[in-house]
Amino acid sequence: MAEAGSFADRVKQQADIVRVVGEYVRLKKSGQNFTGLCPFHAEKSPSFAVHPTKQIYHCFGCQVGGDVFKFVMEMEKCAFPEAIRIVAEKCGIAVPSPRERSPEERRENQQRTLILEMHRAAQTFFIKQLESTAEGRVARAYLEDRGLDKQVIEQFGIGYVPSGGDALLRLLRPKYKNDQLLVDSGLISRDQSGRLFDRFRRRITFPIANEGGKIVAFGCRALGDDQPKYLNSPETPIYSKSNVLYHLDRAKDALRRQDFAILVEGYMDAIAVARAGISNVVASCGTALAEPQIKLLGRFTKRVIVNYDPDSAGQTATERSIALLLEQDFEVKVLALPPVGDKKADPDLFIREKGADAYLKLLKESPPYVDYLIARARQMDLATGEGKLRAVNFLLPYVQKIPNRLLRSEWATRIAQQLRIDEPVLRAQLSKAATERRSELKAQPELLGRVTKPVERRLIRMLADAEDFKTELALRLQQERLYGGMEAERIIAALISANLAQPTLATSEVAGTLDDRDRRLLFEVLFAEEDPATWEEAESCVAALQRRQVERAVADVQRDIEAQPAGANLRALLERKQELMRRLAAH
Ligand SMILES: [Zn+2]
Repeated sequence: MAEAGSFADRVKQQADIVRVVGEYVRLKKSGQNFTGLCPFHAEKSPSFAVHPTKQIYHCFGCQVGGDVFKFVMEMEKCAFPEAIRIVAEKCGIAVPSPRERSPEERRENQQRTLILEMHRAAQTFFIKQLESTAEGRVARAYLEDRGLDKQVIEQFGIGYVPSGGDALLRLLRPKYKNDQLLVDSGLISRDQSGRLFDRFRRRITFPIANEGGKIVAFGCRALGDDQPKYLNSPETPIYSKSNVLYHLDRAKDALRRQDFAILVEGYMDAIAVARAGISNVVASCGTALAEPQIKLLGRFTKRVIVNYDPDSAGQTATERSIALLLEQDFEVKVLALPPVGDKKADPDLFIREKGADAYLKLLKESPPYVDYLIARARQMDLATGEGKLRAVNFLLPYVQKIPNRLLRSEWATRIAQQLRIDEPVLRAQLSKAATERRSELKAQPELLGRVTKPVERRLIRMLADAEDFKTELALRLQQERLYGGMEAERIIAALISANLAQPTLATSEVAGTLDDRDRRLLFEVLFAEEDPATWEEAESCVAALQRRQVERAVADVQRDIEAQPAGANLRALLERKQELMRRLAAH
């Protein structure tokens, strides 16, 4: 919660939630609100709403909601202080310098800054090598032969590292005299005798940027038949392979816009696909897709078309990726490219030989992952019982991961047909697997506040919205304790104290103090299109509550009377009841 007068509070006052959310979600004005497709769950018609005056968002589909900071925390998967910083930057608000760091943090920070700087210097150097040296000319000819012209080379920052083995070292050493730092950067290696040398030599260089577009590593391809064909940066203080997706920094907008990603294996593939005009492509840079990479991608889209190499390593990687993606609730399709001539085709080769349109056509027809897997299973030897069993065991783990029962059942029928397996036997297997899985199933979303009585909903509305009289209403409700025992008691209590606080608190602040269920109910009411309330209506609500309070008191007295029909204070109880009945009649 942003404390009054704090930097967070200032940012919140100045930030426009519609603008901030609008950078992630395409919003359209709809009545008093702005609506769009929810970025937190897959949907086809918009149930995500932003309230411009209350500065809150709410999804009627998946029930998420909160203020501008909460939104950024969820989208960027970051902590509160980071969210403040991001919102401040988006809104052009100057951020005060961060708190003093510990010496250790400062040292690490400084090291990272220097290594980033070295990567920038290396990038400039590699580009120049490709442009203006004799060796670079050979590399350029090779690239042209692969269909990479000057424009693409520039666009993707492709460079060349010469064969000498110390060219980069000679460039970096005068400025970065610390040998250990040079080695830590991953650009320079050290042999057993302690001698330093360039990690890369005689290779085409592809800069690998982090999500923010800063170069954190290089992928290098051998020019001739040197082995290994691909050599990449090692893990360094600024680079962790499993946390970076190649081309994500340039793909972000397209990913959000198109709401799906094409996942390829290497940078050459990513470049080929991006060149074909399909910019929502990322590469895992290595055969194994890692969980942090999937989570990173999940911030932009939950739909993926996997297009890995058709060799056996690529197939294994495809299957592993499918499993991981399903675990993270992705919708997965698989594009398995047909051979070109007698050659197995990766995206790079396919687009070069067959053209972008042919690729795009196949991309659009990509089957859901289960079809791909069935096709894979059919390649197994299905003539024998053992072969069939192997095929079923291959498929079962994936089918189990389908959350929807109906869909699972459909797949069971298809698998049985395609593999010519006795369907009841297959179903028995599946339901056994399903039982074992049941414990993992997520809890059903709670029943929401739709049952809440109209009078409570109107009270919430008035306490949040009715600028003319909400404080007076809060006071009345508070003095007579009229809201006790209501379903929305906690929400109403929170709104009352916000209205009576000095200075009064915004509704979004109130939401921050509520638990999930209450917050959802509050937001549902606030986003509903309803007529503005009048003081007359407020008074009649108060009257209804007073009446309810008296009715309850009568019920209490009645219970006491019936509990002790001959009790000493029967007379007093009866008198009290009469008095209450009179009050009821007067209402
Ligand atoms: Zn949603």
